[in-house]
Amino acid sequence: MKLVLATRNKGKVREMSEMLAVYGIEVLSLDEFPLIGEIEEDGNTFQENAIKKATVTASLTGMTALADDSGLEVDYLNGAPGVFSARFAGEDSNDLANNKKLLELLTGVSPEKRTARFQCVIAVAEPDGAVHTAQGTCEGVIASEPRGEKGFGYDPLFYLPEYGKTFAEIDLELKNQISHRGRALAGAREILARLSNEDKEG
Ligand code: IMP
Repeated sequence: MKLVLATRNKGKVREMSEMLAVYGIEVLSLDEFPLIGEIEEDGNTFQENAIKKATVTASLTGMTALADDSGLEVDYLNGAPGVFSARFAGEDSNDLANNKKLLELLTGVSPEKRTARFQCVIAVAEPDGAVHTAQGTCEGVIASEPRGEKGFGYDPLFYLPEYGKTFAEIDLELKNQISHRGRALAGAREILARLSNEDKEG
């Protein structure tokens, strides 16, 4: 079975290729299809964005495609930044600016009201239009100041009470086990194992 990842992010391609190699699944990325342009993430939910990226890629390549979409939901902000997580502080914003904006919006808000979660949806689309999704969630609290050097994005502000650490203070191996993305990937692995068996049987 061959699979195309609906991303040009080299880190994501490396991670997913390693994970899928054990199933004998050969992984390509959008880099191998230079004529396919940017697929705009204009959905209102992670689910909509992941499904759009996967189905457009599957129909343009004629191959099974996998896409993910993820972000942070803060309860005090009614679920923001949500699908706007990457561009919370503006179209050209970066992690530092996004974290600064989040801290400013939560100034003076007590710890028990700073609850939040990371969400991740992975969509697997087949060329005939069939789509399957897997979802993962990780609950935490927004810290009052950044802590830790690891990870990316909102990791230095995402505090895990049961570990007494932020996502930026724990090892990647542990993060992958408990994170929204790790949990969604576990579900995606089951979908792909099923499709790969159907391929062999069919
Ligand atoms: P995307 O799914 O790669 O488009 O990620 C969307 C945005 O959500 C990222 O740019 C980050 O700001 C945020 N995000 C998603 N997952 C994580 C994570 O594991 N740690 C920190 N930030 C994340």
